[in-house]
Amino acid sequence: MRCTEPNAQWKAFHDNPVTHSEAHYLMTIYDLKTARASDLVKALNIAAPTVSQAIKALVKKNWIIQHDDKTLSIALDRKEVVAQIETNKALLMDFMVTQLGLSKDIADRDSCKMEHLLSPEAANALEQFLHEQHGQKKRPRGLPVIS
Ligand SMILES: [Zn+2]
Repeated sequence: MRCTEPNAQWKAFHDNPVTHSEAHYLMTIYDLKTARASDLVKALNIAAPTVSQAIKALVKKNWIIQHDDKTLSIALDRKEVVAQIETNKALLMDFMVTQLGLSKDIADRDSCKMEHLLSPEAANALEQFLHEQHGQKKRPRGLPVIS
């Protein structure tokens, strides 16, 4: 089935608040709490000039703050968005491995591609779905509940 409004969807894809590579910078800074450019070079395995360009762009877009001592942190009002991207990644990974039976390698690769694009509505629905699935798996039907 094709997208209903491919042009609008494609435009929305490009209008996403963060690019895929920016999402990775943000998640890394988020995980490290405070990071320096050199930490990002190491963690993401990206050349230093590329990292400093990305930092400039993220500062300009108000996603991150560069402090006087050159440490970086996620802007307070953006932390939730970055946390959501991490949650999306975990949910997608979980879905692909436990529900679709995909290998962790494929699930890791494909969830990475989608993590920053999932709408909050889809993420909530996925979380609810997985919660129900896992809830049922823990107590297979027919087995007595041991109290
Ligand atoms: Zn990714």
